[in-house]
Parts: sequence; structure tokens; C-alpha cells
Amino acid sequence: MEFEAVIGLEVHAQLLTRSKIFCSCSTEFGAAPNSHVCPVCLGMPGTLPVLNKRVVEFAIRLALATNARINPVSVFARKNYFYPDLPKGYQISQYELPLAEGGFIEIEVSGEKKKIGLVRIHMEEDAGKLIHDETRPVSYVDFNRTGVPLLEIVSEPDIRTPEEAVAYLKKLRSILRYLEICDGNMEEGSLRCDANISVRPKGSNTFGTKVELKNMNSFKHVQKALEYEIKRQIALILDGKEVVQETRLFDVSRGVTQPMRGKEEAHDYRYFPDPDLVPVEIESGWVEEIRKTLPELPDVKKKRFIEEYNLPAYDAEIITSSRKLAEFFETCCKLLPKPKLISNWIMTELLRELNREGKEVTETRLTPELFTELLTLLEEGTISSTTAKKVFLEVYQTGRRPKEIVEEKGLKQESDEEALLAICQKILEEHPKEVEKYRKGKKNVIGFFVGQVMRETRGKANPKLVNQLLTKLLEG
Ligand code: ADP
Ligand code: MG
Ligand code: ZN
Repeated sequence: MEFEAVIGLEVHAQLLTRSKIFCSCSTEFGAAPNSHVCPVCLGMPGTLPVLNKRVVEFAIRLALATNARINPVSVFARKNYFYPDLPKGYQISQYELPLAEGGFIEIEVSGEKKKIGLVRIHMEEDAGKLIHDETRPVSYVDFNRTGVPLLEIVSEPDIRTPEEAVAYLKKLRSILRYLEICDGNMEEGSLRCDANISVRPKGSNTFGTKVELKNMNSFKHVQKALEYEIKRQIALILDGKEVVQETRLFDVSRGVTQPMRGKEEAHDYRYFPDPDLVPVEIESGWVEEIRKTLPELPDVKKKRFIEEYNLPAYDAEIITSSRKLAEFFETCCKLLPKPKLISNWIMTELLRELNREGKEVTETRLTPELFTELLTLLEEGTISSTTAKKVFLEVYQTGRRPKEIVEEKGLKQESDEEALLAICQKILEEHPKEVEKYRKGKKNVIGFFVGQVMRETRGKANPKLVNQLLTKLLEG
């Protein structure tokens, strides 16, 4: 029997507002514990929450970017539960009437486009943070995060594979970043994902019992946890057992999921409209004003890059995943109209360094001017591509001009035909057996000779010219 997975994601995005959602405390990350708190976010009796308008604006931005329907009236509700990081004993969230419903996020996996539906987008407050002492039976609580604004984005169970789940998350993160409403940093917890997953026989149109997975703070963990869970659930069913509805934690070090608690039901939370907050009424005029401020979004940019620069879809997807990288690419193309060359170098040399350091291109010393100067030297044949890669690293690290580095270190490619001809002759004389092979028809031996000449010239020879010279000598 063949099975398929059914996956729905619940994502929490921490918003980049300066102050918290219901008070004026700072949202700044990394401050001394309990220094960004006030009676409101500490849940003191007699205090009242006041909604931060910027949070609603950010939520509307995301709703517009995902084609969701914005409810003209939405309502904050209390979600009641006890936990030491929740001073009020309830979290202010939205329940029956969320800010927005419907909409979708488009993903592309192995060349196939697919729309993943959204159930809802709602606003809520974050809880505090517990810090457990490793050496003593003591826990500390930091309320700085209490009341930091979150958007919860709930997908329809439209996702079928771990790859699709990761593609959805990456696209959502990219949209949040384009909109400049969330920094999308999964390791630091500003983007958090819970995955709901069940399996069913392929072709069935009913859903199996779902399990909720928590504690996945990177794309890799999401992928691994889902892969493990699919195998675990299929094995249970084939064994004649039942999947239990529960919440499971992903154990990163062992690569397995483990039960955390029985899944709570909505009624366990005793939701009710928060009497301290009036319903949120959104005027359509305001929505239209916000719509005008939206940037070109990743999908539209990607399509334009394919048409305007003739980039393969794969390149366009990667380059437009970051707005800053896309801007860098476009500026480079203005300076040097060779889009595919620029794209190749971005996707290999540049992205390797950026990913290694976890940086955006704007946070480095590299500029479009330096990058295109280097690629121009390569294009003109002044330096070889091996040299260009070395020079790139130095430019990237120091911000020095490629021309200067090439000049200073004498890295110009050898294009002196006479000098190269002599070296080619020498190499052929040294390898009579290979010459014999070539003459008997093994034409690809030429690669070996080119390699030898490159070695002899320490990578400075112009490979195209070497190839021509060798062919002339061998054929002549
Ligand atoms: P709950 O009330 O248990 O949190 P919801 O209906 O709110 O459940 O759905 C939460 C998430 O689980 C959504 O992303 C939804 O798409 C997903 N989901 C719902 N049913 C299933 C299922 N049978 N298998 C996998 N995911 C599911
Ligand atoms: Mg839920
Ligand atoms: Zn406060």
C-alpha cells in the first residue's frame, strides 16, 4: 500500500515594531532580563491594554501580500492557560474573528508550481521566556518578550511532502522580509513553526489522525522531523496500530520525535472575547493606502527576472528570495549587462560566503561596482576564472578594488602567444605517449595537456588560447 502525507503549518512571526502590542515597552532583543516591562505586560490587576496600530498595519501588509480577505471587524480573544511565563494567566490572541482569512502562498518544487491555501492570519502577544538553571533545580523567567507582537499564519492541510513544507516556509519568510515586518530569523526564534502531520493511503480523501510537531528552529529540522514522523506513522498503521493525536517534540541530537503532551482541544482554552479591547475596525481607505506601499513581491520579481534578464527559473528563484540580493543583482546588470554571468557568480561564490556568515550582501564590503569590476577583468580575459575566484575572496573580505589586487600580485593571465607556444611545445615533448593517443583519435587528451600548461604557468595562462595553440601543434 502506498501512503501520502498531509501537512499543515502554523507559523509564528515576531513583528519588527519598536514597541510591544499592548503597551509602550521596547521590543529590543538582548536587553537585561526584565528591563523592558511595565504593569501592562506584567499583567498587574487594574491595567488596560491599548492596541499598537503598527501591528495592525503589518498584519494588513501580510494579508494583502498573500491575497487573504481582510475582515472589516476582527476581535481579540483571551486564550486561557496557566504557565509561569504567562503573567496574566491568559494570552491575548484572536479566535472566532481573526484579522484575515483565506489567501495563499505559491511554492515551486521540482519545477512544479502549487498554491498552498491559508486558513487565517491573526495577531497575538508573545509569552515570556523561561531559563532553566542546569546546575540547580531553579528556573528563571524573563518577561521582556511578554507582549511582543506576533502574527500567526495557519495553512490549509495542502502540503504533501517535507520538501513542500520547507518551500512554503522559505517563501513565507521571504515575503515577510520583503514586507520588512519580520526579520525571519529561525535560530533566534523570530520565525517559529509548528507542523501538523498525518498520513493516509494514497488516493483516499479523508484525513488521518494528526500529530503536532514542535521545536523545529531551522529548515533542516523541519525537513528531518517531518521525514521521521512520516516513517513512524506509516509503520504504526502497517503494524495495525493507531496514530495517537498528540504534541511531539523533535529531538535534534537523536533525529527523532517524542511525545510531549496530549493534544489540547480548543475548548481547553476557554476562549472568549477580551472585554478590555474594543473590536478592531479596519477602514478600506486605510487598506488601500497600505496597498500602495507594498514592494514588488518575490513571485512577481521572479517572473520579471526570467523575462527581463532571461534567467533560468532556478536562478531567478534563488536571487529573488532576498530583496537585497535581488537589488544587488539588478544594480550589477546596469554596470555590466551580462545577467547570466552575474547570476552564476552570485549563486556560487557570493552565496557560499553569505550563507557561511549568515549575512545579507548589504552587510558585507562587497559592492556592485567591485563585483562587476572583477567580472569585467574575467570577461576581458585579463584574469583566469581560477584567479577570479581567489581575487573575489579577497575583495569580499577586504573591500579592495580587484584591479589593484590583480596589479599588485601580478595575477594577469598570460596571453603572450610566443611564450605560451614554447610552453605548449615543451609539454607535448614531455608526454609522447599522450600525444600518440591523441593522434590515434582520443581527442579528449587535450584536456590533460591544457591542465599541464596551466600548472606550468601557475594558473595564469589564458585557457582558450592554450587550447587553440595545442590543437594547432597536435593537428599540424
Ligand atoms: P487544532 O484545532 O487541532 O489546532 P486546526 O484545525 O486549527 O487544528 O488546524 C491546525 C493545523 O493543522 C492547520 O495548519 C491545518 O491545516 C492542519 N491540519 C488539520 N487537520 C490535519 C490533518 N488531518 N493532517 C495534517 N494537518 C492537519
Ligand atoms: Mg491550532
Ligand atoms: Zn509593557
